[in-house]
Amino acid sequence: MGNDNHDNRNKQHHSAKEQKLPALRCYQCPFCGISMSHRNNMRKHIRTHTGEKPYYCRLCDYRASRKDLAEKHVNIKHPGQEMGNNVACDLPELHR
Ligand SMILES: [Zn+2]
Ligand SMILES: [Zn+2]
Repeated sequence: MGNDNHDNRNKQHHSAKEQKLPALRCYQCPFCGISMSHRNNMRKHIRTHTGEKPYYCRLCDYRASRKDLAEKHVNIKHPGQEMGNNVACDLPELHR
């Protein structure tokens, strides 16, 4: 019997239409919704929402990387509100 198994002419035709999406931005920030194409950039960006912005306004969603920015925010956005206790209460130094 001529069982020729190597007569396997099963050429897989690559589907000629391999779609290349131009510069697909596949990483999206869960915080502000901005899209980026590079994962590293996105990770950096997300840090601006989390680790690098420890100061936040308890009266709204505002976050800041510096205390003076948070204070400024409250003075502008929430005039009449007391500063200090309401903002950046998660500061380690304030917890002492
Ligand atoms: Zn963002
Ligand atoms: Zn605010």
